[in-house]
Amino acid sequence: MSEAVHPAAKSAYRRILLKLSGDSFGRPGETGISVTSVDSIALQIKNIMRSGAQLAIVVGGGNILRGRALAASPNINQATAHYMGMLATVMNGLALHDCLESVGVPSRLQSAIRMEGVAEPFIRRRCIRHLDKGRVVILAGGTGSPFVTTDTAAALRAREIDASVLLKATRVDGIYSDDPEKNPHAVRYSEISYQDMLVQNLGVMDAQAVHHCKEHNLPIIVFNFKKAGNIERVIAGERIGTRVVSPAQLSEARVDTTTG
Ligand code: UDP
Repeated sequence: MSEAVHPAAKSAYRRILLKLSGDSFGRPGETGISVTSVDSIALQIKNIMRSGAQLAIVVGGGNILRGRALAASPNINQATAHYMGMLATVMNGLALHDCLESVGVPSRLQSAIRMEGVAEPFIRRRCIRHLDKGRVVILAGGTGSPFVTTDTAAALRAREIDASVLLKATRVDGIYSDDPEKNPHAVRYSEISYQDMLVQNLGVMDAQAVHHCKEHNLPIIVFNFKKAGNIERVIAGERIGTRVVSPAQLSEARVDTTTG
């Protein structure tokens, strides 16, 4: 991710749920946490806070461990593997919390798995109170239950805290008809309905998360967080990445082959 920080425009959204996958915390192809990457995220978040938005962040853990990576292990129960994955998200949350503090962003870390020594428990009302006071709330530990992903946690938390949008930060420019790295004819959708995303099984986000958003008409925006200035553009309401909305909210032009 570039370290360039652009001036913040006013936020188009009152309360934002940002989903940061574990990939954002590491280096491509490597396991673990890259402090340079986390510092860079912290600076981007500092800029988001200048836009006047309230921000809660659900952190993933895939840079450290995903439960399914241990699926073949005969001696580790699948549920245990998923709990290990959830603990990985707490490590990313701890790193982000400190890096945010180091750049002067007031923040709190809440975990769905209780561990009072390092994080507050996730308590919906307390989370909202922090947001109302202008603190970033980092939500770690996923849902606290195994067999799902932090995408589902993001959708559930977005609903719980009454977020106006779920921003899904990725390394690609949005949702494509096919894998753009394998198929040169793949096109990027500027918009897609929840239903089409589910039917086409596009794999950007887990189906449960999309279902939750669909039921409650919560817009999802999938965008490239690694491009300098993109987060500011999304928050200002610019049409970049891919918007996932109900059919009634779709506009005419849905396919866009430009990057953004
Ligand atoms: N996980 C879980 N329950 C949850 C959230 C996450 O069991 O509510 C586990 C799951 O094993 C997952 C891992 O934690 O693979 C890390 O989360 P995720 O894969 O969503 O991280 P990301 O892909 O966003 O880096």
